[in-house]
Amino acid sequence: MPVEHPGLRGIIWSRVHLGSPMKLFRCDHCGHMLYFENTRCERCGRALGYEPQSNSLVSLDGGPDVFTAPHLQSRSFVFCDNARHGACNWLLPHQPGGDPYCRACCHNALVPDVADPVDLGRWRVIERAKKRLFYALLRLNLPLATRKIDPAHGLSFRFLDEDTAPAPVLTGHDNGIITIALKEADDAAREYRRTQFNEPYRTLLGHFRHEIGHYYWDILVAGSAAEQGRFRQLFGDERADYATALRRHYAERAPSDWQLSYISAYATTHPWEDFAETFAHFLHLVDTTEMASAFGLHLRPAVDRTGELTAQIAYDPYARDDVAELMDNWVPLASLINNLNRAVGQNDAYPFVLGPAVVEKLGYVSRLLYAAGHIGWTVPGPTGPIPINRGPLSQ
Ligand SMILES: [Zn+2]
Ligand SMILES: [Zn+2]
Ligand SMILES: [Zn+2]
Repeated sequence: MPVEHPGLRGIIWSRVHLGSPMKLFRCDHCGHMLYFENTRCERCGRALGYEPQSNSLVSLDGGPDVFTAPHLQSRSFVFCDNARHGACNWLLPHQPGGDPYCRACCHNALVPDVADPVDLGRWRVIERAKKRLFYALLRLNLPLATRKIDPAHGLSFRFLDEDTAPAPVLTGHDNGIITIALKEADDAAREYRRTQFNEPYRTLLGHFRHEIGHYYWDILVAGSAAEQGRFRQLFGDERADYATALRRHYAERAPSDWQLSYISAYATTHPWEDFAETFAHFLHLVDTTEMASAFGLHLRPAVDRTGELTAQIAYDPYARDDVAELMDNWVPLASLINNLNRAVGQNDAYPFVLGPAVVEKLGYVSRLLYAAGHIGWTVPGPTGPIPINRGPLSQ
């Protein structure tokens, strides 16, 4: 559906200000390396929380409810309300009477019954994947409105149990509402579906990155004739009937030469799906390359005679719109992670081939997102425009 954001303001601001520490974190108390999801430092035992505004995982003093973070000028924070369910490790400023949910959880519209231990366990797994999605959206400075402040186009999530829901639960996006079937958090159920649909890759994080692609198509492409024109040149005409396209995809196989033009067989279904798949892969590439860069990865395989697999990954891919540079780093990196996975008996981490047509589509997504991230976005509010990204003045 076409989406208008009347608050869009054409203010360009410097990408330099978006630079932040990368996702490889160290305990600011003892120096131990941490995972993004950690709630406690395994070496010094300090409580930890992720503070999205500064993009830092910080050690905390005080508690049990209000904490200070020495690393952040001892400002006061509370944990997101979902922390009490073990479903979140994000912090928000201590503001009595304010929204109890963090930057990522404030978009949840429907969460499972936490009294059901199975669904609670699934939800925790889902939230971990969702937080990785939000990390990327915040790093890219994309517009993010809740339904509360933008009832028509705000982003919201529903996590539904297929066994108890009154209607069939389909993972998908509909006008700003992203539904994820809770069973996708069960390894056995998800793997069953992966093989049933003959997919090389099916993960929760992949679902989130795909569905959010549909969301941003509505926000960034629909409603702009110029942008739709550019989109159609690469992805085709999205006015083709979607239901018919979906039926055809499941009745017939994808064309045998789909890899020449598409990132996955599912991307052949319809231009919207092609875009969502490409969008998801762009986030896979950027996030993984960022992590490789944070590790200072230098690849120089002895068998490489052409230089194709040689790279020194030392840049912030969130900060640059350069798909050629991304690919120069990604090709050796994908080869490394696939070989590492095979060495420990796992399937390929990235079982995809990126041909020139796919790289061109990735370049389109890159340009679209970097342009969106350089604009201050607002939606109308009762007392004036409400910013929905960091905007040009907030940093
Ligand atoms: Zn520590
Ligand atoms: Zn939260
Ligand atoms: Zn889709």
